[in-house]
Amino acid sequence: MATTTPRPRTRSRAPAAPAEAGTTPQDLALLFAVLELELNEVAQEARASGQLDTVRGRRRFQSAARSLIAHARPDAKERVRAMLEQAYGEGAKIAGARPPGAIQRATLDQLAKGLMLRVDGSLSTVGRQVDDIFRRAGLEHAARQLSPRELPREAAAEAMRRDLENRGITAFVDKAHRRWTLTNYSRMAIVTTASEASNRGVLEAMAAVGRDLVRVSDNHCRFHKNDPENPCRALEGKVLSAFGLTPGVPVLPSPPPWHPFCEHHLAPAPEVGA
Ligand SMILES: [Zn+2]
Ligand SMILES: [Zn+2]
Repeated sequence: MATTTPRPRTRSRAPAAPAEAGTTPQDLALLFAVLELELNEVAQEARASGQLDTVRGRRRFQSAARSLIAHARPDAKERVRAMLEQAYGEGAKIAGARPPGAIQRATLDQLAKGLMLRVDGSLSTVGRQVDDIFRRAGLEHAARQLSPRELPREAAAEAMRRDLENRGITAFVDKAHRRWTLTNYSRMAIVTTASEASNRGVLEAMAAVGRDLVRVSDNHCRFHKNDPENPCRALEGKVLSAFGLTPGVPVLPSPPPWHPFCEHHLAPAPEVGA
């Protein structure tokens, strides 16, 4: 019987003092990359510990993982708003506006809410997977105790370890059957929402001063560089009417991003006859 019980390291999260916490999309995405690393570390420790045979051992690792996830949420929530505000402000500045004021609050609220929904969704998916793996570890252990002959001890422990290893507690599949890691998914949601905030900033600042024409950046998205039929290609580099106020100029169908990781942005173009 084990007398020394290695505790899972309940690591204090990197002390992200709000003042130091950056507000770029990359800064925010890093929070989830760190969380993913920490969760995988807990899983690794659990595998190596030999503690998965006991209810206490399993609970200990499960709650270590759970508390990492629980801490990430308020951290993220606090920083989502600041990140979007900055992205929005940068867009508005391109269109010549002053820093965001009261008019834009509704846009920022809506974007922040949407992003937090996706963040929450991925965190609870990962949380469920953590619970699932440990629950199954418990069930397997119970089954083994009922019929020790059918599932020898070593084989069962090995199966449990493999389960932890193979399923990956931080990987998941979305509704469109795309596979994500927590890091990739968060990065996609954050970068894409930041782009939306920035483009909305441009458009709302333009609307405020009665401008209509926008130019779409002429870069290609890295996401589908080699796909000639990608949804962005037809609009790249085009001058379009943002609000349908300029006769004869095609209307912007919707502001970018036009897909996850879309890298297009809008800028005001010289007005016709201006
Ligand atoms: Zn694209
Ligand atoms: Zn694009």
